[in-house]
Amino acid sequence: MKVRSWYGISGEIEVENELWHLVRVGSVALNHPPLINLLLRRRLPRDERLRLSYLHEFGHFQTLPLALSHALWVFWAAYGQRRSLLGWFAWLTGFVVAHEAVWEFLSEGYVLIHDGAAYREIYRRTPNPLVPAFWFVMSGVGVALTAWLIRTGD
Ligand SMILES: [Zn+2]
Repeated sequence: MKVRSWYGISGEIEVENELWHLVRVGSVALNHPPLINLLLRRRLPRDERLRLSYLHEFGHFQTLPLALSHALWVFWAAYGQRRSLLGWFAWLTGFVVAHEAVWEFLSEGYVLIHDGAAYREIYRRTPNPLVPAFWFVMSGVGVALTAWLIRTGD
């Protein structure tokens, strides 16, 4: 499915099966196992599962500028901090995890805002304890790690 982001860049999203998703922007293809979608869409009817999965992938596309802003802000805040080599390795690992958590949170946030009442209705009909857990963990990890990343060096 061809998509166009609000910031003008076009891409392609494929959510044909449950095990593999593809997001393509220009010649850059992002192939990934849809781990978050697998967890969050557990036990949903197939059409709802594919629709929400597609929206989530599109959410990654739509919120890319926000995810990049977060990444740049964290890099900017850490620039010039003094750390040992091991300290920077830990910092970089934390950065990757924080970036993932923030971007997953933003993408699912896009689904929630886009779908609104329908989203809540779907999960009211088919409760999934992993959904509140997702919101709790992603926001917690995102905020805690970001705070750790931008603190003054060790
Ligand atoms: Zn995702």
